[in-house]
Amino acid sequence: MIKFLDLQKVNKQYQEELKEAANNVIDSGWYLQGERVKQFETELCNYVGVKNSLGVANGLDALRIILKGYIEIGVMKKGDEVIVPANTFIASILAITDNGLKPIFIEPNINTYNLDISKIEAKITPRTRAIMVVHLYGRVCWSNEIEHLAKKHNLKIIEDNAQAIGAKWQGKATGSLGDAAGFSFYPGKNLGALGDSGAITTNDTKLASVVRIIANYGCEEKYKNTYKGYNSRMDEIQAAFLSVKLRHLDREILHRRKIAEYYIENINNSAIILPSLPNNKEEHVWHLFVVRSAQRDLLQKHLAYKNIETLIHYPIPPYKQVAYKEFKELSYNITERIHDEVLSLPISPVLMETDFEKVVNANNLFINE
Ligand SMILES: *Cc1c(COP(=O)(O)O)cnc(C)c1O
Repeated sequence: MIKFLDLQKVNKQYQEELKEAANNVIDSGWYLQGERVKQFETELCNYVGVKNSLGVANGLDALRIILKGYIEIGVMKKGDEVIVPANTFIASILAITDNGLKPIFIEPNINTYNLDISKIEAKITPRTRAIMVVHLYGRVCWSNEIEHLAKKHNLKIIEDNAQAIGAKWQGKATGSLGDAAGFSFYPGKNLGALGDSGAITTNDTKLASVVRIIANYGCEEKYKNTYKGYNSRMDEIQAAFLSVKLRHLDREILHRRKIAEYYIENINNSAIILPSLPNNKEEHVWHLFVVRSAQRDLLQKHLAYKNIETLIHYPIPPYKQVAYKEFKELSYNITERIHDEVLSLPISPVLMETDFEKVVNANNLFINE
């Protein structure tokens, strides 16, 4: 069986380093808000090329706390609008609605699966305060146009960088392109902890200090609370693991790129639409390798029969979820087509050459009925 993502194998590569990191934390007797988190935050700043970073409990909290930070400093208030792609993972939307803000959905571009930047301006109203771009599947969503729009309409750009650490646009890393960014270090992400973890990056020093307070109960000084905050802190042990894994991230990204290029070159089946290659301004980190097929469910069955595990990212758009009854009248053609047709093939830092050949062969044997 070729697993979609063999996490045990991924972490086994670094077992000795991870054990040493864990032992150091156990020995230190210090488990929260200590030196390891501080060190990882510095490493993340250097890797991304930003002035400030903050370790938090998970990626959803990173996004939620950024928006709450903007509310606390008066940049936005409840009822204001945030533009967001309609085909994102639910966390992007939860971060918006949890803050009493209103998501304004935009269709993605069918070739990149990222928010179609050309459709933003028509949706801007006097209540629009921000654009949340999602670098979906590890592909950067950026352009000169979006920077221009944000400036013209005085909007913040928040990056949901959960899937794209290491991706770049014109040499600049995602997480440093907008005003603030949320990262996820969920175990299955490209930089995965051994549990939940996340981070915020920003060059805005004011926002950085406010989000740091919010993530620690809104507490600025012991037992003095400035904001109604959260308890959302990165564990020392996760920070220690992440420092180990960050050292190997670029090599892992190169392996993902090699697999993606191999799939694109060798999968040749009229029933399967391959992802487009990034343009020359972009560096893609291939968190997911997503193909499309009008017969997606049959393709998935066929691949399972050939012992290849695949997943669907995602079967239901956020605005169609039971949790969001208030959006159930909405409908977006491109988004819904994507959700009906996408299938994620195995891609990971531990997938071997013999595996990716098998994946290619199985895809090429799928018969279009
Ligand atoms: C994983 C993910 C998140 C949330 O991260 P968690 O760490 O699971 O909370 C947010 N946005 C996107 C696009 C994601 O893929």
